[in-house]
Amino acid sequence: MAVYNYDVVVLGSGPAGEGAAMNAAKAGRKVAVVDDRREVGGNCTHLGTIPSKALRHSVRQIMQFNTNPMFRQIGEPRWFSFPDVLKSAERVIAKQVTSRTGYYARNRIDVFFGTGSFADEQTIEVVCPNGVLETLSAKQVIIATGSRPYRPADVDFNHPRVYDSDTILTLSHTPRRLIIYGAGVIGSEYASIFSGLGVLVDLIDNRDQLLSFLDSEISDALSYHLRTNNVLIRHNEEYERIEGLDNGVILHLKSGKKIKADALLWCNGRTGNTDKLGLENIGIHVNSRGQVQVDEHYRTEVENIYAAGDVIGWPSLASAAADQGRSAAGSIVDNGSWRIVDDIPTGIYTIPEISSIGKNEHELTKAKIPYEVGKAFFKSMARAQISHEPVGMLKILFHRETLEVLGVHCFGYQASEIVHIGQAIMNQKGEANTLKYFVNTTFNYPTMAEAYRVAAFDGLNRLF
Ligand SMILES: Cc1cc2nc3c(=O)[nH]c(=O)nc-3n(C[C@H](O)[C@H](O)[C@H](O)COP(=O)(O)OP(=O)(O)OC[C@H]3O[C@@H](n4cnc5c(N)ncnc54)[C@H](O)[C@@H]3O)c2cc1C
Repeated sequence: MAVYNYDVVVLGSGPAGEGAAMNAAKAGRKVAVVDDRREVGGNCTHLGTIPSKALRHSVRQIMQFNTNPMFRQIGEPRWFSFPDVLKSAERVIAKQVTSRTGYYARNRIDVFFGTGSFADEQTIEVVCPNGVLETLSAKQVIIATGSRPYRPADVDFNHPRVYDSDTILTLSHTPRRLIIYGAGVIGSEYASIFSGLGVLVDLIDNRDQLLSFLDSEISDALSYHLRTNNVLIRHNEEYERIEGLDNGVILHLKSGKKIKADALLWCNGRTGNTDKLGLENIGIHVNSRGQVQVDEHYRTEVENIYAAGDVIGWPSLASAAADQGRSAAGSIVDNGSWRIVDDIPTGIYTIPEISSIGKNEHELTKAKIPYEVGKAFFKSMARAQISHEPVGMLKILFHRETLEVLGVHCFGYQASEIVHIGQAIMNQKGEANTLKYFVNTTFNYPTMAEAYRVAAFDGLNRLF
């Protein structure tokens, strides 16, 4: 049996695995990547970020068509089916796979398709789909195997009307009524997608506020816009049981309520993909959510083994996973690319879109920091009016004495893009990270970025 020798073996080809593999390969290491799909890209490309964002984009286009009076000249509002919008997501996935496959080839990284597990600290066994067993030896291993939806034992996911965020991508019809259990980021995003398709959605939240980590004004705005789009949000609810019927599902809540729908989408938690890794063979422990613990260098409790991405838990974002992977490889190759990935913006692709960076009002008030607020409402901005996108607001929080920008919170059109202007300014030192930048800089007109200038003037006007 042949043994392939590598400097670094990366388990998983999602953003964390790709970031790790590319950095190690560029530093001259001989690298292999193992993934248990037959294509690269990880869950991010095949089941998570990419399909959900492509679905959302198509739904937004449909909503534009149905609400912009200009389109009435070519036809009445119409509804598209979920399988219709899924087709465009599949096209994007295929393009992503092609691009990403090219990156591995160009960087001379070997890709093995199969399930990888540790025989010992330096030996990975890969069971390929055809049953062949490949053995890879490595000086260092990076675990980047991601996560999957958490499936509690008392929910029957084999029932044809019960889905999770992976299996929803096999839905072959458009339900009239859908229960989404779990109102975190994934649940709220799917509530936007389905309600945009005209589905009546019951969004079940275990807490009393949607996405409570957000600035409360933005969380309130999200609730308002979901509700106006036919999402019934039910706060402080927990399931007792889920009853599958031939033609639907009944959700029994601990509060005594019963909700009936054509289907249920479970969006409550995720678990790390560590169960098939043979971690018991090498003494790496996982927590109750199957996640591996790492130090600030992304090193596990075994010296030559690192981990990055969803498999280590927070923040479980593709954006952070890619940087964590790169940083883990940076720890190994020592090329100056190691960093702790903690300055992560929030990007939530609900309808409306949400993005933020830095502190929110609640945090600043609690810390007794004397801040002031500057706002720009999209309904008054030329670019938003031209784009038929009146919903939204940019809010800048700044220190009332030093004018330092402390937080940027935004919802509406292009929110996840324009937040990066605020992020760039907040990362500057001295006067460069103050509100003055926005009033002393000429912005293209009309742009959404101009919201910074409007919000900055609004904020300065509040000072005395
Ligand atoms: C519906 C949804 C929407 C999301 N939207 C966003 C978003 O808009 N923005 C954002 O930043 N993040 C988003 N995320 C989160 C994002 O997808 C994850 O944070 C990201 O995929 C994590 O990347 P990763 O590299 O850690 O792992 P993954 O992308 O999960 O990839 C891990 C890969 O390893 C493979 N694997 C597992 N076990 C083994 C094994 N034993 N051997 C070999 N291979 C193995 C897996 O099959 C998978 O291919 C979303 C997630 C979901 C579910």
